Amino acid sequence: MSADGSPELLIVLGAQATAAETENVVARLQEAGALARVSPGREATVIAVTGDRERLATLPLEGYPGVEQVLPILKPYKLVARELRPDPTVIEVDGRRLGDSWFGLIAGPCTVEYRGQTLETARAVAAAGATMLRGGAFKPRTSPYTFQGLGSEALAILAEARAETGLPIVTELMDPRHVEEVLAVADVIQIGARNMQNFLLLSEIGRADKPVLIKRGPAASVEELLMAAEYVAKEGNERIILCERGIKTFERTTRYTLDLGSVAALKHETHLPVIVDPSHAAGRRDLVLPLALAAAAVGADGIIVEAHPRPEEALCDGPQQIPLGEFAAFAGEVRAIVELLGKQIG
Ligand code: PEP
Ligand code: MN
Repeated sequence: MSADGSPELLIVLGAQATAAETENVVARLQEAGALARVSPGREATVIAVTGDRERLATLPLEGYPGVEQVLPILKPYKLVARELRPDPTVIEVDGRRLGDSWFGLIAGPCTVEYRGQTLETARAVAAAGATMLRGGAFKPRTSPYTFQGLGSEALAILAEARAETGLPIVTELMDPRHVEEVLAVADVIQIGARNMQNFLLLSEIGRADKPVLIKRGPAASVEELLMAAEYVAKEGNERIILCERGIKTFERTTRYTLDLGSVAALKHETHLPVIVDPSHAAGRRDLVLPLALAAAAVGADGIIVEAHPRPEEALCDGPQQIPLGEFAAFAGEVRAIVELLGKQIG
């Protein structure tokens, strides 16, 4: 395998290994034509090795000072795998943290409809302790006849909302042609469920210097979600948040079926933070709070929820949006369970 392929081996050095020992292992690997990627951690330093498998097999890796274990990688995802990096990744945006003991509360309208609606929502969710503001500018709609979002005009409104509230902006990027203008405003770039396997878009965003929120496709497996994240990480951007937002099943009581088992499984498989979108999963506001609480309990690192000043007038997803008048109570209930779990809203 060439040196720009996926890692073949993980070399684990114990916490007591010295910098000189790590450097020595890296130097031996480089002599063998391999690429070594060092991930220092609290418990261990892990070196991911990419190179020719047969040549690597001739090296006495286990014998090098400081080396505790040499593990061949069997999983198809490498950079996002927890085995590569046991410490959880924490995403920091403008002093807000998401991951490990910080729980993200991302809230805002489904769609930026007009200035007043978005600013009113931003103020209310900020006052209730939200950590980031969501809001769609470019909307992926099932029907081409429904409101498609305000596009660039919405981005300007989101920028104003951030300037006023200080909340970082999470907004969706649908098309590589919009990268520049979305990146100019977004603090976190959302890749929507429908684009989870748009590999060109994922690679493009992998070269961006902004965190990425990838939503699970409604018919995508956990492994496919992790491979989507791998596309982004492979290009160098490892600031990735995964989001479970419900999958398609035979059930019609809820809009999608929230797969909380996937959240628990993802937490085993990856060091990346995993959040839950109870709004799109439920499709009805009476279920958003119980699903949000369940998400926190199962180990999610945050939630992303929709809120609107007057959901009955919303141009998109009205039935699932939390009215602003109820948002503070909603956030209070979420905060209580987050604190019970020994975490804090970041
Ligand atoms: C959204 O969060 O705005 C959205 C459209 O969700 P999803 O991509 O999960 O359907
Ligand atoms: Mn929506």
